[in-house]
Amino acid sequence: MFERFNHVAPPRQVDPRLQSGTKRMITLLGRSRPQLSSAYHQPTSKLVSLNDVASSPAQDNQLTPQREQRLRASLDGGSRHIMTENTVIVFDFDRTLIDDDSDRWVIANMGLTDLFLQLRRTMPWNSLMDRMLEELHNQGKTVDDIAQCLKGIPLHPDVISVIKSAHSLGCDLKVASDSNTFYIKTILEHHGIYNCFSEIVTNPVLVDSGRLRIFPYHDVDSLHACDLCPPNLCKGRVIDRIQAETGSKRLIYLGDGRNDFCPTLKLVAADCVMPRKNFPLWDRISNNLELVKAKVCEWSDGEELAKVFHSIL
Ligand SMILES: [Mg+2]
Ligand SMILES: [Zn+2]
Repeated sequence: MFERFNHVAPPRQVDPRLQSGTKRMITLLGRSRPQLSSAYHQPTSKLVSLNDVASSPAQDNQLTPQREQRLRASLDGGSRHIMTENTVIVFDFDRTLIDDDSDRWVIANMGLTDLFLQLRRTMPWNSLMDRMLEELHNQGKTVDDIAQCLKGIPLHPDVISVIKSAHSLGCDLKVASDSNTFYIKTILEHHGIYNCFSEIVTNPVLVDSGRLRIFPYHDVDSLHACDLCPPNLCKGRVIDRIQAETGSKRLIYLGDGRNDFCPTLKLVAADCVMPRKNFPLWDRISNNLELVKAKVCEWSDGEELAKVFHSIL
């Protein structure tokens, strides 16, 4: 008996008549801040801190708080939908959409820490997580036990509400993660936001006679040649495919890890990357700003993530 946890919703239909106004609206709201965070000294940095975003209306004499309020009110009346209908938001999952790491959570909360520490240097991550699930099965833990454990992972209320509002505004939301379909579906369903996402791109999971099995996202026969990404998943290739499917839509990419740098490099100037501050992606972007074409908006926690979103959507 195999059950495959896959989720691919049909692509959202966009009225082509809405396309023409999009660029103009992005320019109007997407005020670029060439100003640098003092931590970086590159004169052409696109790094935008929350303070920059939050204070920008007051600094920009073209856009007073009153004018911004009127603009937002008018956008809420319809034009804002034109912009958001043309926005694709791709979330990394662990330590981005959720504050914790789902693999770590299961290991720590289901008594696997010792075995994990023993094996961690001997196996690739993907195979190691599959081995952890085998161990749980051998101990008599059921799929439901694992689901119950996953449901204990907290999700920041501001992240839940920003996901719901971005979805209702017409944004196309996706997840690209090196976790797995079972973990992500269980957690998002538990928090009532699974249906906000059109696609979950991650390692597939099968239930084989009551045991969860994790498989690599990319077929072993067609391993990618990207040296920025682990062999089982190149998120840059995922972004290539999304860009090919969504054409000129604006992309917003959120992540924290080393494997989020490859997709970051695929973004264009109209796009936005949102790295979690002081995490590996943020470090890599900070040290390679000249390679990143997209606007960079950093955030530290769920509350800041939501504030940045409200500023750029
Ligand atoms: Mg992550
Ligand atoms: Zn890659």
